[in-house]
Amino acid sequence: MFEVKNIEDTDLVKNPVIAQMSKHNHEQLLFCNDSETGLKAIIAVHSTVLGPALGGTRMWAYNNEMEALNDVLRLSRGMTYKNSISGLNLGGGKAVIIGDSRSMKSEALFRRFGKFVNSLAGKYITAEDVGISPTDMTWVNMETDHVVGLPGKSGDPSPVTAHGTYMGMKACAKAQFGSDSLSGKKVAVQGVGHVGGYLVDFLTKEGAEVFISDIHDPTLKSISEKFGAKVVGLDEIYDLDMDIYAPCALGATINDDTISRLKCSIIAGAANNQLKLEDVHGKAVMDKGMIYAPDFTLNAGGVINCYAEVKGLSPEWAMSKADEIYTTILNIVNRSHSEGTPTYQIANKMAEERIESIGKVKLPL
Ligand code: NAD
Repeated sequence: MFEVKNIEDTDLVKNPVIAQMSKHNHEQLLFCNDSETGLKAIIAVHSTVLGPALGGTRMWAYNNEMEALNDVLRLSRGMTYKNSISGLNLGGGKAVIIGDSRSMKSEALFRRFGKFVNSLAGKYITAEDVGISPTDMTWVNMETDHVVGLPGKSGDPSPVTAHGTYMGMKACAKAQFGSDSLSGKKVAVQGVGHVGGYLVDFLTKEGAEVFISDIHDPTLKSISEKFGAKVVGLDEIYDLDMDIYAPCALGATINDDTISRLKCSIIAGAANNQLKLEDVHGKAVMDKGMIYAPDFTLNAGGVINCYAEVKGLSPEWAMSKADEIYTTILNIVNRSHSEGTPTYQIANKMAEERIESIGKVKLPL
């Protein structure tokens, strides 16, 4: 299962689960199994230093349990960083349900899952993620109150995510061009679904020249007609003469192939995991003089929206909290320039620094 290279790796073979948790300091894992409903799930609580661990539930047909374990450990840690850098009093967690979301869903399965979430007594708060629908979450909610993003509550997070992305993009413009105005700037938005569509709205209102691509023709046509954005090909987008590239569809679009083609000086979009290899491509974009806005900082509007629901705060509060992404991104870029370190590393450091300092405040009860 693991290639043994050194003592640490030997430990991974002897203690595959605990050693994996120790690598990034995960607090707790809950393995869930129920033969009656077919539920097989893992809930990972990475950190509760800042508050209850919040993160969505993903349903996916993993090839094996180790793949599911790796995913839930990686995603829950990512939530800790996203919640921390966004200044929220939330820790990081995530859950994965192992199975085909097209054929294995039932009310009983999600209610059983809800009981497991409830057994953590609020230490973990769940929400929708890939493969999960609002109906599924309504079933989970029948067994636990520790669910957010339910129909009729905080609603679609995409407008807040798009607003935060737009504000962060403006901060990048301020750092790169000396002004945060996007008027006249050429911006290419890849993927004009929920977030991308709202983003195009913000950009055209400010007078940016917007180019769009999408695999779904009806979506492309409707956004193009509504906002006057210019349609470009799926691959053509990487070669455009543009100031800003905004990936709002897929991950890993910043890679060896695209970095050599991209002519923009800013990369700022809402998609998750944009850098194919963080260490390699995060440095490569910096070396090319581009500003890369770390995705988990830029797209935090979604989790800000969930936080508003947890705390009973208004949609206006969520929007104004997403405004703060401007300052956060500007700080990251300024530190990146002064320390000569890629932006994603600075963002990670800033998230860790907050956890460390607030952890000290919280210790003496
Ligand atoms: P969505 O599914 O509504 O939109 C994605 C769009 O991308 C779709 O229209 C799809 O047709 C298009 N697409 C897929 N492959 C493409 C390709 N190769 N080239 C061009 N377009 C392509 O999703 P969304 O909610 O808008 O989220 C977009 C991204 O932002 C995702 O990576 C998501 O994880 C991330 N994100 C979203 C939120 C949120 O609030 N919705 C929050 C945080 C992060």
